[in-house]
Amino acid sequence: MSRADKIRKAAQRTAGEVREAAKRQRDTQRRERARREFAVGEHRHCSVCWAPIPLDADPPVCSDEECAEKQRKREGSRKRLTVMLYLFPAIAILLVLLQAMGASG
Ligand SMILES: [Zn+2]
Repeated sequence: MSRADKIRKAAQRTAGEVREAAKRQRDTQRRERARREFAVGEHRHCSVCWAPIPLDADPPVCSDEECAEKQRKREGSRKRLTVMLYLFPAIAILLVLLQAMGASG
């Protein structure tokens, strides 16, 4: 291999690397810009996978069917939990009242 060949090869390799690096940088910049543009606008996150979704999305999940299903289940258990949260103290108070009435009466 002659010296000129070596230089040409090295130059080609370097050019290729530069092209690669430029492409990578462009990709990164494009992603950054897309992210920023989305971040500027008001938005919320899918409550399951935290993907950004429109602010008025209801229920607050992305378009993924799996997320919608999980959200439905979660909503159901949340409602049960809320009911229990009120029901148990109510029963406890009722028992105390009954006992007090029994003791006095
Ligand atoms: Zn999701």
